[in-house]
Amino acid sequence: MTSAAAHPESRPATGVIQPDFATLPRKVEAGAKTSLLGLSREEMREALIAAGTPERQAKMRVGQLWSWIYQRGLTDFAGMTNLSKDFRGQLAETFTLARPAIVTRQISQDGTRKYLLRIAGGHEVEAVYIPEEDRGTLCVSSQVGCTLTCSFCHTGTQKLVRNLTAGEIVGQIMVCRDDLGEWPELGKPPSEKRLLSNIVLMGMGEPLYNTDAVRDAMKIAMDGEGLSLSRRRITLSTSGVVPEIIRAGEEIGCMLAISLHATTDEVRNTLVPINKKWPLAELLDACRNYPRLSNAERITFEYVMLKGVNDSDEDAKRLVKLIAGIPAKINLIPFNPWPGAPYERSDWERIEAFAEIVNRAGYASPVRTPRGQDIMAACGQLKSATERARKSRAQIAAETTGETAGEAAG
Ligand code: SAH
Ligand code: SF4
Repeated sequence: MTSAAAHPESRPATGVIQPDFATLPRKVEAGAKTSLLGLSREEMREALIAAGTPERQAKMRVGQLWSWIYQRGLTDFAGMTNLSKDFRGQLAETFTLARPAIVTRQISQDGTRKYLLRIAGGHEVEAVYIPEEDRGTLCVSSQVGCTLTCSFCHTGTQKLVRNLTAGEIVGQIMVCRDDLGEWPELGKPPSEKRLLSNIVLMGMGEPLYNTDAVRDAMKIAMDGEGLSLSRRRITLSTSGVVPEIIRAGEEIGCMLAISLHATTDEVRNTLVPINKKWPLAELLDACRNYPRLSNAERITFEYVMLKGVNDSDEDAKRLVKLIAGIPAKINLIPFNPWPGAPYERSDWERIEAFAEIVNRAGYASPVRTPRGQDIMAACGQLKSATERARKSRAQIAAETTGETAGEAAG
């Protein structure tokens, strides 16, 4: 079965009448309260004033609210004891602090936690928490689905539904903190060793097709009065949206990862089709100009190892030539299979030989250990359950017309 035939969207609807969440308008929850999550201080100030807070108090209120929301993790205005009861009541009438709702939480044998989260409009996204000895990393989504169609990526088989808001992006971090029980108690300092210490923007979607919301969310994540995560512990991964790369460096200032995956335009065009728009030479130029690039702040080049496609010794040699002069490390990612994927993972000996060439050229080349595979939480395996549910509907529809939908889409 070809993957196109497996796309539920490509099937005619045959008698299964169910609301299609993906196509409902965004403002589906009419009369919904305004979320305060993801608002900058200035935006929150304006929202408070518009809701009747006297202008001269607004700045102080924003400070108090930020502290309750981002340092204590409150989800309810009622607990904000330094605000008058009346004011708390007013806030609760107009605003909400609701996070994305956890629909399911799966915990892998290796401790990886995959959350399926529901956001406004009934859409669903995934976030993945990966605990390690020295850190805990949350992999955050920036879009529902993705407009790009990298041929080895599961998310790429899902159409773009919409961009996430800044509140929905920062909300993923807060949901995970809730789940880990990592909000400090009133009067106690935050613990030194954080369970959630790092963020990678490597979930569903292309973060640089939603740069403004990603920037606003990460500003709150990095703010000392926000979630207080260090700038250098946040990594944004892009497939190569060249015009946005420098802007991300200037406006967000986080670490950069590039989904390189190939060493010739010919191969990269097939793996990462955005390469046709911004080919390797332009991409690497943007990398060379990335702000603050230095040995202390290296770019990570991600390279998925696909058997017989991009994993030869020649590829490894070309790779080190391509990135010459860029402070970098190469992250080799063994391909994570998904149902119907047209690729296979390179053999371990091949991956090791490739890593050795890159290493000898002076670049660190860690091989990323696949995490959470038993729960389909590894890189490129994310695809929301709404989509899977739609697939089962398509399957039912197909069965009623005598077709079989097969298992090619995940
Ligand atoms: N859209 C962004 C970030 C999300 S993808 C980007 O493409 O960079 C995060 C990383 O996982 C990217 O490097 C992506 O190329 C890689 N990836 C996608 N599918 C994969 C798969 N099936 N196996 C291994 N890595 C994959
Ligand atoms: Fe989108 Fe990144 Fe997947 Fe490509 S690899 S389809 S850009 S999520």
